[in-house]
Amino acid sequence: MVASEIRALFAVAARPEVVSLAGGMPYVSALPLDAVGQMVGDLVARNGAEVLQYASAQGDPGLREQICDVMSLEGIKASADDVVVTVGAQQALDLITRIFVDPDDVVLAEAPSYVGALGTFASYQADVVHVPMDQGGLIPTALRETLERLRIEGRRVKFLYTVPTFQNPAGVTLTPARRAQILEICAAYDVLIIEDNPYGLLGFDNEPMRALRADDPDRVIYLGSFSKTIASGLRVGWVLAPHAVRAKLVLAAESAVLCHSSLTQLAVREYLTTQPWREQIKDFRELYRERRDAMLDSLGSLMPEGCTWTRPAGGFFVWLSLPEGLDAKAMAPRAIAQRVAYVPGTGFYADGSGHRHMRLSYCYPEPHRIREGVRRLAGVIEQEIEL
Ligand code: PMP
Repeated sequence: MVASEIRALFAVAARPEVVSLAGGMPYVSALPLDAVGQMVGDLVARNGAEVLQYASAQGDPGLREQICDVMSLEGIKASADDVVVTVGAQQALDLITRIFVDPDDVVLAEAPSYVGALGTFASYQADVVHVPMDQGGLIPTALRETLERLRIEGRRVKFLYTVPTFQNPAGVTLTPARRAQILEICAAYDVLIIEDNPYGLLGFDNEPMRALRADDPDRVIYLGSFSKTIASGLRVGWVLAPHAVRAKLVLAAESAVLCHSSLTQLAVREYLTTQPWREQIKDFRELYRERRDAMLDSLGSLMPEGCTWTRPAGGFFVWLSLPEGLDAKAMAPRAIAQRVAYVPGTGFYADGSGHRHMRLSYCYPEPHRIREGVRRLAGVIEQEIEL
C-alpha cells in the first residue's frame, strides 16, 4: 500500500488562499440541511431501537428496494435480493477484489483510471493492465488486442474495471455503440465487468445513459453510490451482482464490518421516501453544469497553446494534457506556490505514466473561484513553457 497522491495534496489544497481544483468533493452544502437534520432527528426519536441497532450485512431490505428504483433510471431491472449495501462504492471495490483477485491476477482498467480503485487493486497485489481511452471512452479494438495478447501470454484476467459514464478522472463517457462492443468482447473472452457508476445521474444534457448492467446482467457487477446524489459523508453505496457473487459479497461484508451503519442506511431510506430527491439531483446537475461551464470557458480563453482538455457532459472532472515535454507532477509544487492545486496524472496510472496530464475538478469551488484557479494555472503553465 502506498499513500495516494490525492490525499497527500489535500492538506495543502485545503488552505483558504489556495484554489483547489484537486479534490472530488461533492457540494453537499446545496442540500436542504435543516430538513435533513430534522429528518434524522425524527428518525431516531421515532424509531431509535431499529436505527441504533445491528442489522443484516446485506443491508436494509427497504433501502435495497429503493436502490432498485434508482437503478431503473438507467434501464436496470433488478431484484432487491441481488443488492448488497456497502460503505460507499469504495468498500464495494474492496469486497469484490477480495473475492476475485489472487496475487498477480490481471485486472483491466481504463488509462487513466480511478485512483481509489487502483489503490485497492494494488493492496490485493493485482497486476493492473491499462486499456487506452479517447473522447468516446474505452477503445474496443484496444480492449480486444489487450485480451488477445494476455490470452497468448497465458495470463488470468479476473475482470475489466470501468467507469463508463462521466469518468473519474478523464470526464469522458463511453458511447452507446462502444457499450455494445465492450459487452460483446468481454463475452467472447469470458471476462467479468465491474461497472462503477457514481456519476451516472449527474449528466448535464440528456436522460441518464443506459448502464452496461442493463444489457448483460450475468456478466456485469454494478457499483452505485449515494455519495454524489445525496451526501458522501453518509457512506452508503451498493453492489448489484449476479446471485452467486452476491452470496460471497455478503460473507465478505460480514467479515469486514459485521453490518453497515443502520443510522445512515435508514437516513437514506427516509430521505428517498420523504424528500424530493429527483428535484435535488436536478439542482445538483444545474450547479455542477454552471461550474463545468466556468471551467471550460476559462480554459478556452486562458490556456496557452498546446494544452488540450476533455469536455465532460456530466460528473466532476476535466482531464488536461500539457504540451509535450512538460511534467504536471514536477510542476505541482510551483502551482501550489501560485495558490492553485490539481491532481497530477501519475496517480491515475498503475504503471507510473501520465506525467503530462492532470485532473481538474470543478465540483466544489464556486464559479468565480474556478475562473481564478484556471487563471493562476494558466500563468504557471506559461512560465513552464518559457523555462
Ligand atoms: N468510484 C469512483 C469512480 C469514484 O469517483 C468514487 C469517489 N471519488 C468512488 C468510487 C468511491 O465513492 P464512495 O465510496 O464515496 O461511494
